Amino acid sequence: MNTKVITNYQDILMALPQPVFVTGTGGVVRLINTAGQHLMTGFGVTESLGSRIAEHITHPSFMDVYEDIRVGDKIVGAVDFSLDNPYLAIKQYFTANVSKVEISDEILIVVVLSDMTSQRQVDKMRSDFIANASHELRTPLSSIVGFVETLQNGALEERDTANKFLSIMAMESTRMARVLDDLLSLSRIEQDEHIVPDGRVNLKTILHSIADGLNFIGRAKNISFSFDLKGNNVVNGNGDQLIQVFQNLMANAIKYGDRDSVVNIKTQQYSLDRRNAVKVMVADCSGGIEEKHLSRLTERFYRVDKARSRKEGGTGLGLAIVKHIVSHHRGVLEIESIVGEGSVFSVILPVRNV
Ligand code: ADP
Repeated sequence: MNTKVITNYQDILMALPQPVFVTGTGGVVRLINTAGQHLMTGFGVTESLGSRIAEHITHPSFMDVYEDIRVGDKIVGAVDFSLDNPYLAIKQYFTANVSKVEISDEILIVVVLSDMTSQRQVDKMRSDFIANASHELRTPLSSIVGFVETLQNGALEERDTANKFLSIMAMESTRMARVLDDLLSLSRIEQDEHIVPDGRVNLKTILHSIADGLNFIGRAKNISFSFDLKGNNVVNGNGDQLIQVFQNLMANAIKYGDRDSVVNIKTQQYSLDRRNAVKVMVADCSGGIEEKHLSRLTERFYRVDKARSRKEGGTGLGLAIVKHIVSHHRGVLEIESIVGEGSVFSVILPVRNV
């Protein structure tokens, strides 16, 4: 066992993943580790050594804490601050831990930065999600409460009005139940994320049986399904989850598809990261989706046309569920659309070899 005491800490500091700056009591940078230099390069600073730290970390809250330690009695301090990164055009969030140390009779100030930007983004997504979910439930709930009050205040006596109100209340309750079902579905999929789906699923069978179930809704708009299924359509997967995927995509093709049109379901052999895969395409004829929306469609509660989605009984969660399940199956979801012609939602899944 090598018990020799390590005295040269510089190399260890250089290897740390967090940006580290060491200054003297004059505020000039005497050491910056690789992560620190990398960070500074991202802000357009190529050489930090020998310059004042205040020129690089310009936030006043940081400078207050740093100066308290540099010239005051404090030994340690921490501060959260943000810097605008003009090169990436984003705000980056940091926590800085500042401490005063004495090494070989010399006083040095050590600044360790932690980049909190991704954590902030996750926190924001979580709070946006809660706000959106509450709003989605609050809207039908307010409407139900409003109708109950109107009925209690006398409308119950007018039979026709009361019946109209009751059917709206039933519709709004169904909407709430659907949002809750989809939210529960998402959370269940997230919980099972670590379980690799390994059941034998024949996509041909499930695609046909979903179409049989949806034909009834399709008939109201005179929309029918056509099939062109080629290659190996057997994948490793969770049957219930894959049914949810294609049920959502095929139901959307009817919801947003043009009257008197056909939804084409195709499968073909594909190669995904050099593995044999199957590409399932659900192609509709519709007004299509503008390019600017495409990358956002799988965000929770994102809708191109809120009113239309509501009218069609949508929850805004279907494609978020689809994306989650597909990535859980190590697959890929692709969305293409041509305005005025229609959209193609493709799911690529690795096939089962035996
Ligand atoms: P929703 O319950 O609103 O249908 P989804 O998550 O399934 O929610 O879809 C999100 C949004 O994507 C929809 O509100 C709609 O604007 C758009 N969209 C989904 N599928 C299609 C499609 N086949 N054609 C046109 N727009 C679609």
